[in-house]
Amino acid sequence: MKLIGLIGGMSWENTIDYYRIINEMVKNRLGDWYSAEILLYSVNFKEVLQLQNQDNWNQLLKLMIIICKKLELAGSKAIVICSNTMHKIATEIEAEISIPLINVVDETARAIRSMNIKSVGLLGTKFTMESAFYVEKLTKKYEINAIIPHKIERDYIHKAIYQEFANGKFLESTKKKFLEIIESLIRNGAKGIILGCTELPILIKHQDVRVPLFDTLKIHLRAAVDFSLS
Ligand code: GLU
Repeated sequence: MKLIGLIGGMSWENTIDYYRIINEMVKNRLGDWYSAEILLYSVNFKEVLQLQNQDNWNQLLKLMIIICKKLELAGSKAIVICSNTMHKIATEIEAEISIPLINVVDETARAIRSMNIKSVGLLGTKFTMESAFYVEKLTKKYEINAIIPHKIERDYIHKAIYQEFANGKFLESTKKKFLEIIESLIRNGAKGIILGCTELPILIKHQDVRVPLFDTLKIHLRAAVDFSLS
């Protein structure tokens, strides 16, 4: 089993799921008492949040590279960054490290293509919904049309992710609003929905939605386990 380096804490609410699910996946694949060989570097989210809010991606890049190098030095054979948003700088990180970075955007695109879906709705932080690293990559590299919610809904989603989910609050009223946004994406042609934020699968489940849901946390981990066991 190859050692996987996880960068978590963004937020720790979802890192708990990364830790639990990667172990469940290894157990399912290999049998009882098998568990994942991982190193987890959990950041101080407050520091990351401040830099994101200042749009200081250079400093975030420096921080991520330092952590990747520590994980690499400690024996990791691949890196998993437990946040969609932080993939905004994935290409720049990849250029600075010598082990593979398992990219959540590419893995999600592959999952969508494997179901022959050509048009999806994308939910995530504003960085995820509005930057090129997600939407443009899906369109240009994978020929998948990504539909994003309207501005007012994007603001709502972004705020809910940071002020509620990444702060440990999961409210029924917020879930209801998210399901309404998902319905309007479906009405606009989405044949699937990307839960492009790793806190979202805690709130929204497959049975809540009438089209396939792409749970980026699970997709990401499946790729990590494939790599680890290959
Ligand atoms: N966990 C979130 C994501 O998947 C957002 C938190 C962050 O800003 O990293 O995008």
